[in-house]
Amino acid sequence: MQIWSTAAELAALDDLRSEGPLVLVPTMGALHEGHLSLVRHGRDLGPVVATIFVNPTQFGPGEDFDSYPRDLEADLAMLEPLGVRGVFAPTVHEIYGGEGEVIVKAGRRSRDLCGAGRPGHFDGVLTVVAKLFGLVKPDVAIFGRKDAQQCLVIDQMVHDLKMGIRLIDAPTLREPEGLAMSSRNRYLGPEDRERALALSRALGEARRLIEAGERRTRVLTGAMSEILEICDSLEYAEVRSVPALDTNDVIAGRTLLAVAARVEPARLIDNLVLEVGPDTVTEASLLDT
Ligand code: AMP
Repeated sequence: MQIWSTAAELAALDDLRSEGPLVLVPTMGALHEGHLSLVRHGRDLGPVVATIFVNPTQFGPGEDFDSYPRDLEADLAMLEPLGVRGVFAPTVHEIYGGEGEVIVKAGRRSRDLCGAGRPGHFDGVLTVVAKLFGLVKPDVAIFGRKDAQQCLVIDQMVHDLKMGIRLIDAPTLREPEGLAMSSRNRYLGPEDRERALALSRALGEARRLIEAGERRTRVLTGAMSEILEICDSLEYAEVRSVPALDTNDVIAGRTLLAVAARVEPARLIDNLVLEVGPDTVTEASLLDT
């Protein structure tokens, strides 16, 4: 496994391109099984390159950029046995040095949900992802469905800026009790972890209601909000169409159930993507790939 920290070193990627579609798995490190599942998914498609970069421009003032867990050695030790061919772990200066005037502005899909509570977050995400795409020039990029709005915002960028990269949203990996894996889960003590289960429980309850025939958005968001009352604060419990992220009074077709709440000291998000037919409800992906 090669390790690169500068753009110049990425010339080594050209040796991998002949082996098949080059697959990029971007991460901020502090890796867990969820990240590794993206790598395992990618391995079946072609040589996999991972990036580890805690991107300052996607953190707002007062967010956890400084305290975000960083452990490059541990991350590399997890990636090596999976057959990752190379890891790009640049410095902030390598990515943002120079003039740094151009940023990518996320469109309509970024407005609500996490975008409402984290102004500028998705502009930061798109700017760094565009830079990583420009540096690595992957054929395929894999992102986690866990960050559903992120997937849809990146999908819009790739489409609008004609980047020609195939995007895949990989399913969310969960702890056995249902908690979605996240680097921020390590902020949680045992009691916090118990309350954090409210997020997956709220989504499970909304799914149960939909399976029982409920289609009214108001009823579904009400049921999720009630379960999330146990958290320190509820940021949102929403039901949106996919991919546009519109709100409709009654759901039909591909639907995102999305929740965000604080269980101090962490801000947690989770979601479920369902294909809702007149009589059937099945789990679905966000992107058609
Ligand atoms: P992060 O390091 O948090 O930026 O995450 C890097 C990638 O891993 C993103 O595409 C995330 O959506 C994805 N990811 C994070 N948590 C999970 C999970 N529990 N299951 C699957 N993918 C995940």
